[in-house]
Amino acid sequence: MSALPRAAASLLALLLPLAAHATQLAPIFDAHMHYNVEARSVISPPQVLDLWRKVDIGAVLATSRPNDGTLDLMALKAPDIPIVPFLRPYLRQPDRYDWFGNNREVEQYVEQELRRGIYRGIGEFHIFGADADAPYMAKIARLAKDRGLWLHAHADEDAVERILRHAPGVRLIWAHTGMSTSLDKVEQMFEQYPNIVGELSYRGDLEQDGVLNPRWKQLLLKYPDRFLLGTDTWITPRWGQVEEIIAGYRRILAQLPPEAARKIAYGNGQAMFGLR
Ligand SMILES: [Zn+2]
Repeated sequence: MSALPRAAASLLALLLPLAAHATQLAPIFDAHMHYNVEARSVISPPQVLDLWRKVDIGAVLATSRPNDGTLDLMALKAPDIPIVPFLRPYLRQPDRYDWFGNNREVEQYVEQELRRGIYRGIGEFHIFGADADAPYMAKIARLAKDRGLWLHAHADEDAVERILRHAPGVRLIWAHTGMSTSLDKVEQMFEQYPNIVGELSYRGDLEQDGVLNPRWKQLLLKYPDRFLLGTDTWITPRWGQVEEIIAGYRRILAQLPPEAARKIAYGNGQAMFGLR
């Protein structure tokens, strides 16, 4: 240790906090958020923007039930926070259980929303196992592929594979990266399907006691271009946890090489949706 010249040591001491500080301030692309109707009573659209600025969320993939939440956030036209709108196929909360099963109301709603011509993807929707073979799911997958839209699927690996069979090559954001799917299976899916991107909210195995899971680190570094972060404000109390969630992500990012961290934090979302 004594071989380290005093000047170099003091320079290092100076730079380390600066590096940590830079990670703290890197903007985050929030790839999984909902401004659902129930949240309105606790946080207004301008307050949502204030919160994003406070935690340095620099861009957002918005998907709300109903879609008015997303439209109202976009209407504020915040020049510093681009919003990438996704069409959520839900009018009411219970639609998540049967939106794909001959739900005429949902189908009409989706048709009507698509006419806006603003959406970059469809989701987040929930689908599990053989439900993904429902004709309407297949229709949505093919429509997304034909129109160059992304899918945002909260799904098990079985459903993801069924979706990809309906529309090979369709681009899919895998919400929660399968949530509880084993990391060996995630790795195999990523190898097999280059058009899948994983979103990391609710992956409880990402870290333990503040330390990034080594198996996760390996995966993130193997595919640094294919992971996104998300707050997933799916229930109103999650809005009160956004700061804490983002702090958790920053703790994880600080344990990755800066280039991979920058991509997962923001660069991947930026590249996927052509943001500046
Ligand atoms: Zn969600």
